[in-house]
Amino acid sequence: MTNNDSLSAAELDELDRRHLVRSMQRGYIKDRVIITRGRGSTVWDAEGNEYLDAAGGGVWHSPIGHGRPELAEVAAEQIKRIEFFTSLLEFSNDKAIRLATRIAGLAPEGLDRVFFTNGGSEAVETAIKAARLFHFRNGEPDRTWILSRHYSFHGATYGSGTATGLPQMQHGVGPNLPNFEKLTPPYPYRAEMYGGAETTDFCVAELEATIERIGAGNIAAMIGEPVMAGGGVVAPPADYWPRIQEVLDRHGILLVADEVVTAFGRLGSWFDAPNRGMRPHMITLAKGIAGGYAALGAVVLTDKIADTIIGEEGFFHGYTFQGHPVACALGLETIEIIEREGLIGRAHEIEAELKAGLAGLKDLPTVGDVRVEGTLAAIELVSNREHKIPVEWHVGDAVAFEIRARHNVIARPYAHNLVLAPPLVTTTEEIARACHAVAEVVGRLSPAGDIAP
Ligand code: PLP
Repeated sequence: MTNNDSLSAAELDELDRRHLVRSMQRGYIKDRVIITRGRGSTVWDAEGNEYLDAAGGGVWHSPIGHGRPELAEVAAEQIKRIEFFTSLLEFSNDKAIRLATRIAGLAPEGLDRVFFTNGGSEAVETAIKAARLFHFRNGEPDRTWILSRHYSFHGATYGSGTATGLPQMQHGVGPNLPNFEKLTPPYPYRAEMYGGAETTDFCVAELEATIERIGAGNIAAMIGEPVMAGGGVVAPPADYWPRIQEVLDRHGILLVADEVVTAFGRLGSWFDAPNRGMRPHMITLAKGIAGGYAALGAVVLTDKIADTIIGEEGFFHGYTFQGHPVACALGLETIEIIEREGLIGRAHEIEAELKAGLAGLKDLPTVGDVRVEGTLAAIELVSNREHKIPVEWHVGDAVAFEIRARHNVIARPYAHNLVLAPPLVTTTEEIARACHAVAEVVGRLSPAGDIAP
């Protein structure tokens, strides 16, 4: 087989099973959908079937939609100039410099320095190392503990995976990294977690008690998503982050906002941390940063942190392809497109359309909660509404499968949540079609987990 041989859908299917190990692959999922083409919010599989992508490219990473010729031109232009040269030591490149400058201009005040990575896990990994090294260089080498929260998703490498609050990420691959502690997140739908206390009061008291137990002088940083995405699009009460921040500041603990999902317009602004009252020392980015047209991530840092970790000795950390000029050129064009096409404004409209389109689901017997934050939506599927018992993961998978098979709409299961994250170019009609598809299929789901024909 040469690279240019045309392969039938059946041949691709067979070779996929034979050779490819895919992300989050599960043995019980026998189906394959081999996507070969995309335009805007529409994608096509190898058999020519057309789907509405209501999942932002599957992992909420696509703000500007698929298959844009202008991005192909940007990439080609850069490759013709030079594809890549290292950003190591004294070397740098024009596209990485420009994109870092653009990101610093959009980021919350005081966050002016950018360390590029190839994705979100590497960004989180970098932020964890940077937090520990910052304290080390400041004469506090014991500050190594990292606080994160249950239900969070921060990545799949050992550092980011240990911070992740989903036990599946740590199961069977231990020992995981030491000196990580998980806190209870604010989760208004599951208020029983707080034993009758008010949500933020509980979380703040738990944080204070955790700091007391571990010792403030042993804690480097807390990492949290402004709105938990993979955990099920869970937004905190308005006073949560300001009060958490106050406690962290009082104890010299750094705050890392993981905006891998929430930045670049997904929640209706360039960055979501300021909207939630976070004043982070670092922000991690990936996904939408290059529109999904290249693998790119970043950590945005304050001058103080960047200068301290670089120091005279240097930050002995980096990745071969960091600051890749093709990825950075695509990132620059993505920002241009979001601005030129008013996609942040469109995100606000999509939020209203999702809220209206999904409102009817709240009354269904298998729906515990419906949450919409910007262009993210989660339908929390339960087998028992009264006791809020989540459906098994395979039920969420089956619901997403049926939505695709019956309606040619791609929604994504995340644990027991069904999630929508349409590209910001999705039209009003397409949002209505996605909501209708979800409502139709979830309407046929029984508490026992069967989907009526
Ligand atoms: N942080 C958050 C909030 C994420 O949702 C993810 C991935 O979904 C990551 C980090 C990891 O990013 P990546 O998959 O690019 O390594």
